[in-house]
Amino acid sequence: MLRMAEPIIHHRHVEFKELFNRVSANLRYLFQTSSDVLTLTSSGTGAMEAAVSNLHSAGESALYVNGGKFGERWGELLAAYGVQGIELKIEWGEALSTEEILNALQAHPTVKAVYLTQSETSTGAATDVQALAAAVRKHSQALVVVDGITAVGAMELRMDDWGLDVVVTGSQKGLMIPPGLAFLAISRRAWASVEQARLPRYYFDLIRARKSLASKDTPWTPAITLVEGVDVALEMIRKQGIEAVWKRHARLARSIREAAQALGLKILARHPSNALTALWIPESVNAKDFNDVLKNKYGITVAGGQGHLKGKIFRISHLGYYDELDMISMISALEMTLMELGYRFEAGAGVRAAQKVLTKDEEAR
Ligand SMILES: *Cc1c(COP(=O)(O)O)cnc(C)c1O
Repeated sequence: MLRMAEPIIHHRHVEFKELFNRVSANLRYLFQTSSDVLTLTSSGTGAMEAAVSNLHSAGESALYVNGGKFGERWGELLAAYGVQGIELKIEWGEALSTEEILNALQAHPTVKAVYLTQSETSTGAATDVQALAAAVRKHSQALVVVDGITAVGAMELRMDDWGLDVVVTGSQKGLMIPPGLAFLAISRRAWASVEQARLPRYYFDLIRARKSLASKDTPWTPAITLVEGVDVALEMIRKQGIEAVWKRHARLARSIREAAQALGLKILARHPSNALTALWIPESVNAKDFNDVLKNKYGITVAGGQGHLKGKIFRISHLGYYDELDMISMISALEMTLMELGYRFEAGAGVRAAQKVLTKDEEAR
């Protein structure tokens, strides 16, 4: 990513337009859409906010699934903009079923949109967006909006084939570059809503962004350095092929899950994401000691739990630029840490289980 250290080019200059045009085309490939993908300068939440502020008018209602921190965020955003958010609350680690979404649509037939989270990063749970979107499309006119942050680039996602209307992601997750850019893919159907929507917006006015996109530009100065970076990341993904990228994530994720099982560690999510795995810390192990040894002795950083899961779980990321040996060294460090803290298991069992997965080809998903 040394490209990001090069001198800044001006964003009204033809050089930038060429770059931005290539990035926008590769983004369409990433999201598997022939519609528009807009590049916004913000973290991922900015694109979530842009979705809400651009799709609605005052007094409308929307369904949102709350199964963790990020699903909850959809609710907070809807509330902030005066859209009536109807919460579909599920246990952390669970995912919404097709039946549940259909019941909700029956009870609330006039909702403008349904807000989903494909990979709930706070719990490591995956949502079957394809199935839910198909159900929504079949039984209602509601738009399907997906938080794809941590899912895009890690898990199968086909915006057009699956009939998704808005999908957002951020630069620092599946795209492997520093934070600061957000991407919002939008369907033709959703554009019609944006044109009618009346909520106030300015910086994140998607109509302005669309106008600029037509001239290979952005309305405001973008984080140019990051556009350079994402160009490199997208070219990498394009070269490997998106299916191969999904497959690699599926294999790495499976290796961690199989290793966890071999070590007797429980996975939080019933349908786990391929971007990260959330595991319960064994009851006999002190959470602080666990993190300290893992980090200070072995240089492995894992994320802790959020909200009521603080101190109870840890989350291993296998999103982005990881390979087989990264998984093996992570599991090995995990084993040594657990050993040191007196947790009993068959030494080497996790590594062995992971090796088995990593030496075989796996189907995607
Ligand atoms: C990281 C993340 C976000 C928030 O993104 P920011 O870049 O921190 O604004 C939203 N949703 C999910 C699922 C995430 O993983």
